[in-house]
Amino acid sequence: MRNVHGRLGRIATLSLSLVLVGGAFAQGRGAAFDQRRAEVVASAAGRPLASARAGGPAQTLAAFLQSRGRDAASVGALRTAETRTGARGMTHLRVEQSVDGLAVYGAYAKAAFDASGNLVHLIDRLSRVPAAALAPARIDAQEALRVALARLHPDAQASLRPMSTAGNTTVFEGGVFFHEAPTVTAVAAPLADGTMARAWLVSTWSNARNLLNHTLVSGDGEVLKVELRTASDSYNVFPVDPGKGPQTIVNGPGAGNAQSPAGWLAGRSEKNTSISGNNVAAYLDTDHNNRADAGGTKVTGGNFLAAANLAAQPATAVNQAVAVQNLFYLNNRVHDILYSYGFNESAGNFQVDNFGKGGAGADPVSAEAQDGGGLDNANFATPADGSKPRMQMFLWTGPLPTHEVVVSAPGINATYGAKGAQFGPALTTTGLSQAIVASSPADACATVSAAVSGKIALVDRGTCDFVTKAQKVQAAGALGMIVANNQGGTDTFVMGGTNRRVTIPSVMISQNDGAALRSLASPKNGTMRLKAVQPLLIDGSLDSGVVYHEYGHGLSWRMIGGMSGPLAGAIGEGASDGVAMLINGNDKMGVYAGSSPNGIRRFPYAGYPLNYGNVTGAEVHDDGEIYAAVIWRLIELFPADTGRANLFTYYVNGMNFTPSTPAYEDMRDGILAAVAVGSNPGDRCTIWSAFAQFGIGVGASGVVNPDGITVTITPSFAKPGDCP
Ligand SMILES: [Zn+2]
Repeated sequence: MRNVHGRLGRIATLSLSLVLVGGAFAQGRGAAFDQRRAEVVASAAGRPLASARAGGPAQTLAAFLQSRGRDAASVGALRTAETRTGARGMTHLRVEQSVDGLAVYGAYAKAAFDASGNLVHLIDRLSRVPAAALAPARIDAQEALRVALARLHPDAQASLRPMSTAGNTTVFEGGVFFHEAPTVTAVAAPLADGTMARAWLVSTWSNARNLLNHTLVSGDGEVLKVELRTASDSYNVFPVDPGKGPQTIVNGPGAGNAQSPAGWLAGRSEKNTSISGNNVAAYLDTDHNNRADAGGTKVTGGNFLAAANLAAQPATAVNQAVAVQNLFYLNNRVHDILYSYGFNESAGNFQVDNFGKGGAGADPVSAEAQDGGGLDNANFATPADGSKPRMQMFLWTGPLPTHEVVVSAPGINATYGAKGAQFGPALTTTGLSQAIVASSPADACATVSAAVSGKIALVDRGTCDFVTKAQKVQAAGALGMIVANNQGGTDTFVMGGTNRRVTIPSVMISQNDGAALRSLASPKNGTMRLKAVQPLLIDGSLDSGVVYHEYGHGLSWRMIGGMSGPLAGAIGEGASDGVAMLINGNDKMGVYAGSSPNGIRRFPYAGYPLNYGNVTGAEVHDDGEIYAAVIWRLIELFPADTGRANLFTYYVNGMNFTPSTPAYEDMRDGILAAVAVGSNPGDRCTIWSAFAQFGIGVGASGVVNPDGITVTITPSFAKPGDCP
């Protein structure tokens, strides 16, 4: 917005809709803009298109164009717009055309020359320039602005007073309607019939909707072309998660930005439950068939603006649309961030179109919102470059029980909150009523000797997995299983696992409730059932930390290679937490999804108490915490903004220097190698100090034992002698 010279009050503004007869100039004279696509001329392997000429790349290009039949006037109209030096000594030349002192609108060529000056690649979108002078325009610049505004903003209150002219460009007053004063530039316009004519290029930028338009108006007053330079796709999203701030409308970057040259959105006709773009296809997959669910409503214009109702279940139509638009946004955001730090096409990133920049395309992320395949988790599968990875975001059950166990024993009636299991049949609100008998052995990891046949077996968590316990008590004839947690006091969670041979239902009650149930006098009869009123589920697609973590798996798999096994698998988990922390600057993971103020890891990463010596090989997320703790320490040590950007660069580029299936010290060395090729070699000791603090110092080593399961860790807290 600008108030030119403070004189706005005295300047006549006019309502264009009153002044102009709508469309008076817009139709009917036949001239059309030349919409040809650029022609790409690539050299056959090893053979340049043209040999170097004396006089350099511009001369080489001119001669080549003439050899392809370009006339002298068109070649003579070339002007060098940009010369860049690229990789391996290549020169990238961009030329445009001008005629009668006017730029030819839309005409350009991009030519690449090898280190010897030979032309090896050409993108040709040049126009045929007439030898004779162009006829004068019939309208002036002010009239051209009037025509453009009548098309774009017919109700605008605009001042068409010319303020200044420099070269071919006139600046107009505009007024408060505009973000910047409108300009009109005299140009030459190539037309579809092969002729060329004087025209006006009108640039307008509105305040209210941030609409930046370039409108090409012919010398006869016809609108030849309107280019909207504002990304019009918009998304109503939780930028971090619903606990960290409200939904906010953000715009996609539109075409032409460095990270997503085609913008985020593929088409203008998408559904609110299925949105596709070059980087990700996000869709609802409640039926877990790995395809977009049927239904949804069409969204035209690229505006995904559903407003969440967090007091309602995620399964409501509006909240499903919110999940998909949020997941689409978060995937694009992490794509663009990681791209800027080096996870680009040649590094194997995830895109439909790689724009000729290396790597294999056709592999956008398939991001499945509210995936019906599980609860309280998320996952990411990374196939080879050129195949689509899949991100599955589950719903989370929150802290409140979904099930209950109602017990009547001599002298007492009690109700215990519970959570269900992913295996076995689902319980109804009627549920299963039977006598409750404690298993022997209590953990039901071996053949059950207690008389649980026809009863509900009470089992302790621990030693073996939940499916094994279910199979053991089922084999002893039990009709249902109650698992008592063995840690966490009041905690319960959905028991994971799959096995179609489990035919009995199971629930988990808390450690405290398990002790209470055990202490009740027998006989005790109980009912295990689904609660009639279900607590609100929580949508993982709204938790950016979870989405970034999952995407981080794709980053480490594609850039490092194998990330499986007890050590590399743990590093993959920790490195994924690292991606989320580097973006969000938050040391706690899954606070929103996991309904846990300290997040879903054992400790917050600030002041993390464990080190490399605590890595056991038993559980990748637990062991991964130690790697993530190093990354958090580095985030603390690299101050915000420039330091963080440098760290992020080391983090991503370091993966280029890291062997497949790494140990923790391999990750350290990769990051150190990235520092060595960076511009701040002094960061080396900072990297060492964070790793050494967590036992990954000089001489530290981690080895996966021959069993492939256990690990031998030698921690070291030493830094190199030259690091303070
Ligand atoms: Zn993970």
